[in-house]
Amino acid sequence: MKNNRLVIISYRLPFTFKTENRTVSVKPSAGGLVTAVKSLDLSGSSQKPVWVGCADFTQRLWETNRQLVADDDFEYVPVFLDKKTNQDFYNGFANSVLWPLFHYFPSFVDYRHSYLEAYQAANEAVSAVVGEVVQPNDIVWVHDYHFLALPQLIRERHPAATIGFFLHIPFPSYELLRLLPGKCRNYLLSGLLGADLVGFHTTDYTIQFLQSVQLALGMQHRMWKIAYQERLVQSGVYPIGINYAMFNDAYSDEEVIRERIELKSAYKDQKIIFSVDRLDYTKGVMQRLDALDAFLQEYPEWQGKIVFILVVVPSRDEIQRYWERKQMIEQAVGRINGKYGTLTWLPIMYQYASLAFPQLIALYTACDVALITPIRDGMNLVAKEFIASRKDQQGVLILSEMTGAANELGEALLINPLDEFEVAEQLKLALEMEPAEQTRRMAIMQQRISKYDVEKWANSFMNDLLQTQETLKKSQPRQLKTARKQTLLNQFAEAQSRLLLLDYDGTLSAFASKPELAAPSSDVIDVLQKLASIPGNTVVVISGRDHETLESWLGHLPIDMVAEHGAYLKQEGVWRNDLLDDDSWKALVRPFLNDFASRCPDAFIEEKNYSLAWHYRNADPDTGFIRSRELIHTLEHLLPYQLRVLDGNKVVEIKNVDTDKGKVARQLALAHPYELVVAIGDDRTDEDMFCALTLKNHFTIKVGRGSTNARHRVENVSQVLALLKELAEQVNPTPAL
Ligand code: UDP
Repeated sequence: MKNNRLVIISYRLPFTFKTENRTVSVKPSAGGLVTAVKSLDLSGSSQKPVWVGCADFTQRLWETNRQLVADDDFEYVPVFLDKKTNQDFYNGFANSVLWPLFHYFPSFVDYRHSYLEAYQAANEAVSAVVGEVVQPNDIVWVHDYHFLALPQLIRERHPAATIGFFLHIPFPSYELLRLLPGKCRNYLLSGLLGADLVGFHTTDYTIQFLQSVQLALGMQHRMWKIAYQERLVQSGVYPIGINYAMFNDAYSDEEVIRERIELKSAYKDQKIIFSVDRLDYTKGVMQRLDALDAFLQEYPEWQGKIVFILVVVPSRDEIQRYWERKQMIEQAVGRINGKYGTLTWLPIMYQYASLAFPQLIALYTACDVALITPIRDGMNLVAKEFIASRKDQQGVLILSEMTGAANELGEALLINPLDEFEVAEQLKLALEMEPAEQTRRMAIMQQRISKYDVEKWANSFMNDLLQTQETLKKSQPRQLKTARKQTLLNQFAEAQSRLLLLDYDGTLSAFASKPELAAPSSDVIDVLQKLASIPGNTVVVISGRDHETLESWLGHLPIDMVAEHGAYLKQEGVWRNDLLDDDSWKALVRPFLNDFASRCPDAFIEEKNYSLAWHYRNADPDTGFIRSRELIHTLEHLLPYQLRVLDGNKVVEIKNVDTDKGKVARQLALAHPYELVVAIGDDRTDEDMFCALTLKNHFTIKVGRGSTNARHRVENVSQVLALLKELAEQVNPTPAL
């Protein structure tokens, strides 16, 4: 990170002020993010990294005590929100709308317009502060669901900034996201697209994000990159790690050893089952208690021989869903202890409190089983911390498959937290597992999580973020004007053999309301004729249209043609197709297209030999767009693997994946040692062609706006025709015979 200063934004600042007997002191928080950020190589920058967060102290307290944190590794910039805004933003929209929704608890969502307004106001307020702080070359890293809108708000203030975003909770399936009002949903998604890199814990979350963007905003990704407002937004998977060394080393810490001995002697006749989580309905504590009940019921021989130490850490207890959860847990603990307890033994030791670090490690390392059963959890660090702290390589992890951590901890006993009997069964297995088997599983998991620890996580995110900037700079298409255009004209004149690959709709001819109305103008015919008659030129019109239409419009010209994205090829005057003639899939797909067309006035279906296209360019734009999203969503779940859905410009096309313009373009370009290849196109399908043509003598040109893989850009069809005319005039045409 040479010369780059880092600006971190998270809801909380990494310290709190404590006032006792009128004396203010600072308590640093030892969260993973602090360790992660400190591990980044920031030596290139002469300035301290900046941390922006919402203040949980007053402005006055800050002004009089800021010197207490002046020597920290960060420069802190607190944002002061008024109490009501903060309340409705944090407890309201963030924790009563986004949190339950993103964790698949839609019935817990308490959506209120005032909450959304507070969320917007808070994001605006933070972006105003960040706007003042950010300098050229800074790298901005925004964290979590409190600030989904922030990347775009910062982008508006600093268009050239490097912005990363990481989501620490799950990103849900579109089915959940669509429960939010359309405007709200789009605001959040387009907010995220202000970033250069959007990171998630797992592949599932990433795919769900990409799919939501496509279904809500109509932008299709290519290799996890989304073209948005002339930029590319990359997404990626970065499963957060922990400070492995700290947890592993803590095993031998004196205080930890002392606490561990105490625990073990207190429960010398019992095996210890342990769990710790924040008070949260996502953590599955009630289901865990049901499972313990089932275990004691199903396997009574274990009664008196286990103890379940259940620690619940206070959290968000101003929100009704949280404090009522506390009551539910306490009732269940009471019920189970009453049901199975004796005068000398209670199955559950319950504590509603935070644990100091040595106590936490003592529990991690004294227990026989860690029972971690969230119903949904973005990652779950407790599971990783338990594994890391077991230097003795003993102990068994029972882990919910609904956690992000389960992806990395396959050697744990993975369970479905809703199935109390499965959990009970696995609990028995865990308690009876041979020490050698415990070691085997632990060793594999330890090796894995020690490799990808929190430092690795931060560094790999940061490296990728910097990389996106490099790629972006390199991939910015340049307007084909003056000097660059002259270079092309000169190369064209000097080359002895040239291949011209020209898309049709949107490139040679503007879009018309019906496909058949876009017949070529006399200008187009004329310029193609001229270009084709230049010795050494091969002119190919490369289109998604059917071959009959292309033939009827352009068949009389001495040019080659590609129809249906490569299904048909005309060379030396002869059409051929190399694809298997199996269109049985159309019978499956056609009824769906008809159904969607009947529900969308003025949408129509075009049938080609190798594809079916559902056009909505004549439909009401909003209805057309919404129906097209539903159609794509339906088709994606329905189609056999060999079919591909192309989300085109006001058209959804289903075709055989055997062909695309990229494959054909590459074949044609390699068929002859052309000295120059020029490819021009406007649509997403032309991007396949641009991606395939990457050699030095390949000149790729995108028509119109939007991010592209082409190296050059022209604005519209008339500029294409003007360019083609100039090219034709570079070389004296030989009159056609
Ligand atoms: N933890 C804590 N106080 C405690 C006990 C645990 O801060 O009294 C920590 C624990 O070590 C872990 C974090 O809280 O790092 C919980 O992270 P996790 O991903 O498991 O769940 P989250 O609370 O983020 O939903």
